Amino acid sequence: MKQRIKVGIPRALSYYSFYPLWRVFLEKLGAEVIISKDTNRKILEDGIKETVNDACIPIKVFQGHVLDLINKVDFIFIPRMISADGKATFCPKFLGLPDMVRFSGVKLPPIIDSRYNLKGLPGGLLRFFRSVAKAIGVNNPFKQTYAAIAALIKQKKYQRLLLEGLKPPDAFEVINGSKKKLDLKKRKTTSCVSLPTKVALLGYPYAIYDPFISAGVYKRLKNLGVEVITFEQIPLAQMRRYSKVLPQNFFWYYSNLVCWAGLYLLDHKKVDGIIHVTAFGCGPDSMVDKTLELEAKNAGVPFLSLTIDEHTGEGGVQTRLEAFTDMLWARRQKSRAG
Ligand code: SF4
Repeated sequence: MKQRIKVGIPRALSYYSFYPLWRVFLEKLGAEVIISKDTNRKILEDGIKETVNDACIPIKVFQGHVLDLINKVDFIFIPRMISADGKATFCPKFLGLPDMVRFSGVKLPPIIDSRYNLKGLPGGLLRFFRSVAKAIGVNNPFKQTYAAIAALIKQKKYQRLLLEGLKPPDAFEVINGSKKKLDLKKRKTTSCVSLPTKVALLGYPYAIYDPFISAGVYKRLKNLGVEVITFEQIPLAQMRRYSKVLPQNFFWYYSNLVCWAGLYLLDHKKVDGIIHVTAFGCGPDSMVDKTLELEAKNAGVPFLSLTIDEHTGEGGVQTRLEAFTDMLWARRQKSRAG
């Protein structure tokens, strides 16, 4: 029997936003998809060894995930993420990611680095799919189109699940058919107290949803009885309206989403506080963090900036979250009494 081509996807960066699209497309082309392990200390340390010192922790972790796939796959999938909305670009580290990995000095399987660029000439998505298919030797246009349509349908479903409040790992399981949406929703609603404190947890998906990178901030807030709102739970069209509020939008895709979400939630008085998870050494975040802080201050909403790096300790994060949520709770009681 003919062996299927194995394609490895690192469980980091764009994985948290685009995994269903990548996976379904590759599988419909006949490939076997292998995902790297959950992030752990070894993955981080391996990544640190092979990455430049001043890289942010998500990039170091990404490199570690690539190393985890060596000897398990025929290709490693590292698309060159340029633009997902036709306007903003991804941060420069995303743009250079395939080269950064390729020239790290480690012997790797061939990298699929097709350009994901919806900016400029129409047909960017089609060109991307064609390029990926060709890289693994599938040249039949009918097969390529069928795989692309199936992948786009799954990606839409995934985005709908996130909008309904599912976290990426849960939404992946629903998409794969290993969990039922209803079970997850039941779990979600039964864990909340009657009038929970609402906190916006803002930051890039690859930092927030990777429990190792973020020291489990999402779960910790849930355990503290807090209702957590992330940007994926806000309809894009509503967030986009806030692109007109700032004198100038950011150049970077995820930075805009984080900032617009913050502005939307403040404007609609939807949250008691904002927590911004930011990676040490992240250039874009130096501006996003300050913007969110100032906007929260103007709206009279408490703001906490949580900077993460490879030395972030769980104890420190827990203490800061407890202090912040206690303060939000006390404010709530005070405003009710007044
Ligand atoms: S946006 Fe910031 S955290 Fe994300 S990859 Fe770029 S530098 Fe790193």
